[in-house]
Amino acid sequence: MMLLAEQDSPLLIRDVEVFAPQPLGRRDVLIAAGRVLAIESDLVPGTGFPLRRIEGRGRWLLPGLVDSLVHIGGGGGEGGFATRAEPLRAQQAFEAGVTTLIGALGTDEVTRSHADLLACARALSSEGLSAYVLSGSYRVPVATLTGCLRRDLVLIPEMIGAGEIAIADHRGSQPSAAELARIGADARVGGMLAGKRGTVLIHVGDAPEGLRLLHEVSDTSALPVWQWHPTHINRNRPLFEQGIAWVTRGGSIDLTASTTPELLASGELPAADALLELLRRGAPVERITLSSDGQASLPHFDEQGRLLSLEVAPLSSLLDCLRALVIDHGQALQRVLPAFTRSPAELWGLPRKGRIEVGADADLLLLDSSTMSVEVVVARGSCHRLRIT
Ligand code: ZN
Repeated sequence: MMLLAEQDSPLLIRDVEVFAPQPLGRRDVLIAAGRVLAIESDLVPGTGFPLRRIEGRGRWLLPGLVDSLVHIGGGGGEGGFATRAEPLRAQQAFEAGVTTLIGALGTDEVTRSHADLLACARALSSEGLSAYVLSGSYRVPVATLTGCLRRDLVLIPEMIGAGEIAIADHRGSQPSAAELARIGADARVGGMLAGKRGTVLIHVGDAPEGLRLLHEVSDTSALPVWQWHPTHINRNRPLFEQGIAWVTRGGSIDLTASTTPELLASGELPAADALLELLRRGAPVERITLSSDGQASLPHFDEQGRLLSLEVAPLSSLLDCLRALVIDHGQALQRVLPAFTRSPAELWGLPRKGRIEVGADADLLLLDSSTMSVEVVVARGSCHRLRIT
């Protein structure tokens, strides 16, 4: 697989079935200067400037996927130094249809740092992606870039929230409700001062207490429920049920698309099944996101806590999950697509991401409508044609 970047002249995608994520029918979409300029049924742009054209007939045009959790600097290491995962490359993201991603540290905040995380995000951004990062870490008191979570959010443009903060996990710091509330308050005020949403991504492990701490913080502090975004909610059935109760309370949840046969055998719910059950039970798609947990390790422990196996989570799991929902489960694309696009964009406070509308960033996927294979990725207006070699 290789990628050929093209010039940045205006681009017209003709006669394509648009999912914005809501269905708009067959439209012509004009892109210029990194934004969507027009969406019309029969667009005839004026002459006098160079215009690239792509024929869209028989294809679907979607917003680029928004991945809420990627260990862009490489995650893992829970099986020793040889199990540390590699940093993400931009090409992996384009091939996976991801144009916006949120980078975070994982279990290891000793050999991994926010300086490195930020450098990785800037490298990905320089290659056309929209890469953001989170301050904080699994461990509490949290690791930061400037020595202060609030200062990180105020001063570092790419830092839009905090996380992953680990709860209910033997790899976390077993924080108290008061400690967690302080992290939420710093993210909230730091976010407010910088015009960011300040969402806090909570890594939830497999301990039975699950989301208990989030309820306790919400019961005893002035922080809004929507400040928190717990992830790995499809890890097992009891946590999934707690996730539904959290959504009923007004909260949002994230499902992890990457998995292994061992994790599924030990009770993890496939993300596609989990999303469908949530929708069937009345959870609003606006408060559900999916993430790949890309470049994380997927460790499998036995009952004594011994590491049995460890794999690296692929970013491609997100698009694979969307494909499974539409092709294998027969779901209408517009029913499930918001959880991969507009919902995460809203929950991270990125109003120009995850949608196809005039003025939005030109982050687009052109898919074959029968196989849902990605033919072209447009990222901030730059066109990347995927070619199998
Ligand atoms: Zn996690």
